[in-house]
Amino acid sequence: MDRLSTDTYWHETATAQPAEPLDGDASCDVCIIGAGYTGLWAAHFLKQAEPGMSIMVVEAGTVGGGASGMNAGFVQMTAGKVLRRMLWYYGKEKAGGVYKSVARSVLEIGRFCRQNGIDAQYQNSGILQVATDTKQLARLELQIKRARKAGVASFRLLDAAEAQERIGSPTVLGALKVSGALLNPYRLVLGLARVVREQGVPIHEHTPAETVEKVDGKWRVSTPKGTVIADQVVMATNGLQGQFPELHARQMPVWNYLMVTEPLTDEQLGRVAWPGREGVANSLSFSTAARLTPDNRVLWAGGLWYMFGNRDTDVRHRRNDEAFGKLEQSFRAFFPHWRDVRFSHANGGLISWSHTFIPQFGRTESDMIYGHGYTGSGIAASHTGGKILRDLVLRRQTEFTDLAFVTVNQPKFLPGAWGNKGGEFFIWRQRIGDRLPLLLPYQAALAPKRFFARRPAQGRP
Ligand SMILES: Cc1cc2nc3c(=O)[nH]c(=O)nc-3n(C[C@H](O)[C@H](O)[C@H](O)COP(=O)(O)OP(=O)(O)OC[C@H]3O[C@@H](n4cnc5c(N)ncnc54)[C@H](O)[C@@H]3O)c2cc1C
Repeated sequence: MDRLSTDTYWHETATAQPAEPLDGDASCDVCIIGAGYTGLWAAHFLKQAEPGMSIMVVEAGTVGGGASGMNAGFVQMTAGKVLRRMLWYYGKEKAGGVYKSVARSVLEIGRFCRQNGIDAQYQNSGILQVATDTKQLARLELQIKRARKAGVASFRLLDAAEAQERIGSPTVLGALKVSGALLNPYRLVLGLARVVREQGVPIHEHTPAETVEKVDGKWRVSTPKGTVIADQVVMATNGLQGQFPELHARQMPVWNYLMVTEPLTDEQLGRVAWPGREGVANSLSFSTAARLTPDNRVLWAGGLWYMFGNRDTDVRHRRNDEAFGKLEQSFRAFFPHWRDVRFSHANGGLISWSHTFIPQFGRTESDMIYGHGYTGSGIAASHTGGKILRDLVLRRQTEFTDLAFVTVNQPKFLPGAWGNKGGEFFIWRQRIGDRLPLLLPYQAALAPKRFFARRPAQGRP
């Protein structure tokens, strides 16, 4: 493991434009906390809708220093695996609404890059969802039925021979080609930040919001060298939302990892059929995903989630030799023809896990606006989320504020040790579930469906 770099591979593919920290007090209409996709899409759509509005973004580290700059770059539907849950809890209309909005975001991100000269290596090649055991095959068949039921798409299951022509792994038993794109995540977030700055929104890097409190009807965001007074705040800190007491129980931070190989030679590349260069993901609960980078490395991501101690988000967990070992093992099993291919980079990032796996946007009791809970699929969903946050700030009731991301009741995690135990139990259950035969939907027994169908007490625009 020592030869592996724990630096982010994508950070080597672009040069960032550094920005000054906030130095002194300031005031604005809206202060956005966090410069990943969520905060930056919110800033972009808000400024587009209200050019006269003064908006400021404060970022603890650097733009794209969080998950937005290091992820696997699959621009996909959040609704893939959560479609089952959404259909069960919220019914066909709400589930279909989310699915269609996020599908639109997949395409709009590509258009945004083209229109703004962002070379994010966006490639609308679709994603192959593959099965490597019979249980996963059954899951894919169910997924086809559900997509039909929600009226969102029609798929055809490719058999083993057809699937292996598209991705030459002998372990593949079947596949679905679903819509989705691949991109360079870091270039997207840097490009988006450039556009936001050109719109007139300052982004202050190395400016952590230490406290965010409401005083006399205004928000006070305290940072090391100055205080921002704002009419509204948007909390966009992903797996770090828990540092703010009001958001602590709404999401759970978990760690997930990815590895990148050295560039393949033409001879190595030729050993495995992958003519469409699509993203490939298996159909386990803790799915593993593969893609080629433009310089012909293989990026291998996903697998188990990790929780450490009391929701520990310390950056030292970016390195996790156990996770890297398991990822390497699953890579060798999936691609036995690449036994001699070596990994050069490996690191991890924080996923903001929502209790229902469905992203959450809304307002807290004290009127703090938040967006989080992408549960590992945030590139496309955060684009839809930016429109939701815009409309929440502007107090407009629109098709975006009516999406299930906002208008459904979402259970919270328990605070403290019980919440940690609950999280660990859930991860254990998913892990075991991946090894057992397909069971009937357990929600029928465990989830009070009527609870989810109610509108939340907060979260209305
Ligand atoms: C290994 C891995 C692979 C993934 N792969 C994919 C994928 O292929 N496709 C997909 O759709 N999604 C993927 N994701 C998820 C995706 O990256 C996230 O959902 C998305 O980036 C979330 O964006 P964000 O802006 O909410 O969060 P982030 O990008 O994490 O941004 C939050 C920002 O807030 C800042 N911040 C935190 N605290 C403070 C504070 N107090 N003050 C100021 N700023 C603060 C942080 O520094 C950070 O920059 C992956 C995630 C991981 C970890």
